[in-house]
Amino acid sequence: MQRFHVTVVRSRRRTLSLSVNGNGEVVVRAPERMRDAQIEAFVHAHRDWIERRLAALERARPDLSDGAPIAVCGTVYTIAMGERARIAGGRLFLPEQGREGVMAALLRRMARVRMSALVKEYAARYAFSCGAVRITSARGRWGSCSSSGTLSFSFRTALLTDGQARYIAVHELCHTRHMNHSAAFWKEVGRILPDYAKTRKELRKMSDLMLFF
Ligand SMILES: [Zn+2]
Repeated sequence: MQRFHVTVVRSRRRTLSLSVNGNGEVVVRAPERMRDAQIEAFVHAHRDWIERRLAALERARPDLSDGAPIAVCGTVYTIAMGERARIAGGRLFLPEQGREGVMAALLRRMARVRMSALVKEYAARYAFSCGAVRITSARGRWGSCSSSGTLSFSFRTALLTDGQARYIAVHELCHTRHMNHSAAFWKEVGRILPDYAKTRKELRKMSDLMLFF
């Protein structure tokens, strides 16, 4: 059996919940007064699930070591050591220390350029009127659209393929016309990207990427 560290967070809630974050930390949320033994039994009963999640996470974890390939905004680079983060000659340079944080800042810059360009492209082509584009650190979703028309995208969209990033831009633009996931909304998405169902399916398998950086 694999060993793992469990953090218990107690709060005014009624039920127990279990999650595994990008650091491989197992977090149990529990009601304030629940006995430790009950929490332990809960973790024990979900041991298989925890081990499967930890293994899946290790498979999804981006490799930032020297020589590893990494796809950023649809181009594959080879990671190499450099004094600061930069891209040159097919290589993505990262300093020796603090690679995750440096990479996150680079992804944020690249996501901004990419998502702004995609939003502009589709807004012009399909006459969408939308507000500003924001890049966020949100982990739960790739993108969102506010009632004022501000489109927000996770900086981790920089790790997706061109087709996946296009779908996310179009999805949020379509929310400026339909603030829901109604049949009319999906019809609008399908009019612009007839293949969108395939891309949605791909993205469901990529959701673990949101746990990193
Ligand atoms: Zn949506």
